[in-house]
Amino acid sequence: MNAFTIMTLGCKVNRYESEAISEQLTDQGWHLTDKGAKANLCVVNTCTVTGKAAMQSRQAVRRLVRSHPGALVVVTGCYAQVAPEVFASTPGVHYVVGHSFKDQIARLASPHKGGRFSVTLVEDLSAPRLFQDLPITRFGDRTRPFVKIQDGCDAFCAYCIVPHARGRSRSLSPEIVTKRITRLQESGYFEVVLCGIHIGRYGQDLIPGTSLTRLLRSIDCPCSVQRLRLSSIEPAELSEDLIGQVAASEQICPHLHIPLQSGDDEVLKRMNRPYNSKFFRDLIHCIIRKIPDAAIGVDVLSGFPGETETAFEKTCGLIEQLPIAYLHVFPFSLQKGTRAEGLGDRISPETIRKRCQHLRKIGQTKRRKFYESNIGSTQQVLIEGKRDRVFGYLKGFTKNYIPVLVQATDEWCHQVVEVRLEKMTNGRVFGRLR
Ligand code: SF4
Repeated sequence: MNAFTIMTLGCKVNRYESEAISEQLTDQGWHLTDKGAKANLCVVNTCTVTGKAAMQSRQAVRRLVRSHPGALVVVTGCYAQVAPEVFASTPGVHYVVGHSFKDQIARLASPHKGGRFSVTLVEDLSAPRLFQDLPITRFGDRTRPFVKIQDGCDAFCAYCIVPHARGRSRSLSPEIVTKRITRLQESGYFEVVLCGIHIGRYGQDLIPGTSLTRLLRSIDCPCSVQRLRLSSIEPAELSEDLIGQVAASEQICPHLHIPLQSGDDEVLKRMNRPYNSKFFRDLIHCIIRKIPDAAIGVDVLSGFPGETETAFEKTCGLIEQLPIAYLHVFPFSLQKGTRAEGLGDRISPETIRKRCQHLRKIGQTKRRKFYESNIGSTQQVLIEGKRDRVFGYLKGFTKNYIPVLVQATDEWCHQVVEVRLEKMTNGRVFGRLR
């Protein structure tokens, strides 16, 4: 029996693509191995957004080669795209596959007769190109499937390797997006997460051109999936129109994840970010005015070259005064080929570590206060398929992204139910089914 294993690192887009590759393989008669079982085919979908992600990708490849001797090994993803030589020279790796050949992996996956060879299928992505669709009809054991609507990025933020790895911004047609969501709804999913590399630029490359707001308007109807969640969206693309669309919608979850990166205008300029701290502050207040129960998550990058102590304090100060629900904190790590390579005033790893620690503390306080402010409310919770390991309770998410533990039988899995959020203990929210 042909068995495969697939390991995915990085973002929602990578996880979506791994799901599509898995679906192609299973449609061809391969089966996904159970954890620890032997596989004839190993696929690693790599990430290189940070130094740590790149290191974890290399480790994952070596680990799979070691634990599945004789298997066919395929390495794909952003790290394979920007540095194919790293994996082409790794013993035991047979194929290095760039993004534009991901739809070929199932074809390459013939039963492996052993022997050493190494083939690299990677092409330059810098020229504009059409969106390459990798369809899915299901999403493994996830309760909330992702739907990839956009790929690539043209922004070239100074610290970011993604535009080099994913190429120019390109979009999936609204017709196919709608069909895909309907198909997932018919398969019994209640929530879909729209993802991409730079979804705020959705539709700008299409003929006729469209936008994320117009796409949402076209799929925001009672006949469609019950809950739509947006993945990360750039501050400059959160227009009043889009915020208004989210505020007025029964379907679009009041949950916005917005990268800030720094609260200091000088650092933002050096990062090549297209806004300043005043713009960001006004944006957050505008969102909360229109969507009072919104969960706003914020990305912050610490240790960018030239981030003085004062600049760091400005970042902390801005975050502390804003009504946000949680933080994702990233330590700056230099990526080869980015504009940051040419910048001086590097920050020491020890200082970066301390600053991230401090930001994470601020984030924990924000998250606790946000959860506390929802205790006593009754919310629609989508119950997931897994039980919490500590309490054995079922877990689910509110529309404003609060994880809630409820005591309930398995029949409630993958269902949207009314839950009263009753208490919070050790940072966990407990609710009671209504
Ligand atoms: S918007 Fe900036 S941070 Fe985001 S993917 Fe593009 S270049 Fe990277």
